Amino acid sequence: MTFKMAVPNKGRLHDRTIELLLKSGLDLGEDWGRRLYVTAKNQDIEILFVRAQDIPRFIAIGSVDLGITGQDQIADSGFVLKEVLELEFGHCRLSVAVPEQSNIRTVDDIKDGCRVATSFPNVTKRFFDSKGKNVEIVNVSGAAEIMPYIGVSDIIVDLVSSGATLKTNRLMEIETLVTSQAVMVTSEKAMEANSARIMDIVNSVKSVIDAENKKYLMADVPVSQLPEIDKLFPGLAGPTVMNISGRTDMVAIHVVVDSSTIFDSVNKLQKLGAKGILTLPIERLVP
Ligand code: AMP
Repeated sequence: MTFKMAVPNKGRLHDRTIELLLKSGLDLGEDWGRRLYVTAKNQDIEILFVRAQDIPRFIAIGSVDLGITGQDQIADSGFVLKEVLELEFGHCRLSVAVPEQSNIRTVDDIKDGCRVATSFPNVTKRFFDSKGKNVEIVNVSGAAEIMPYIGVSDIIVDLVSSGATLKTNRLMEIETLVTSQAVMVTSEKAMEANSARIMDIVNSVKSVIDAENKKYLMADVPVSQLPEIDKLFPGLAGPTVMNISGRTDMVAIHVVVDSSTIFDSVNKLQKLGAKGILTLPIERLVP
């Protein structure tokens, strides 16, 4: 049986998902943009382009072996799945938001019978049940923020990232149900049958994410400063040190550094007398 992987066909998670798959070496061919599924060249993997919200169900019933979707979608599906890799994008939270001019400031203030507009009816119902609140769920397929304004609901449960959309619509976030990011997800059953293949894909994608968080740094440094330079790069295998032809006072160093510290590292190296500092992107990082 061909191994099947489902990825979002559009929406916020689509572009970065495709970028990660391509960078990790899956060859989707030329015309993947026009197809509903493709077979990755030289790998026995079928990639299916479907809605992010359908992916948890497809995995749960065994139609696909692996998928990429948001944790919010997994939570709302109610299926018990196995998340194998956090993908570090698509960060958002599913929150309760209320009109600013209402007098609701905590979930305790919400009265039974309150109408809650949401595209996440299952997780919303479970949340209010767990709080002992008997609310009326109004299932909408998007634009929940406008529902209190047009009188369709009293409050909403919706995704928030910066909070700007809530503010524009004069809504106030009062509690978070789920924090979410994009994840690679499978099921116990698919994992039992295909663990080697799944871990190969997980490790490839992880190596791309890890590499993006790092830079390769090269510099010529005074030999006398090597002890100081070692202190500059703690926690990593120390810099590789190489001779420079015809020089006894300077050596070349190569080191992998966190992208977030590159600004500091370059400034400090300069102060230690480093010359010819180069920083390069890394494509894959396999420890
Ligand atoms: P789509 O509806 O196909 O655009 O996909 C929406 C998915 O993108 C959600 O299920 C989340 O996992 C993710 N996402 C990340 N940030 C946001 C946001 N601010 N608003 C909506 N969805 C977000």
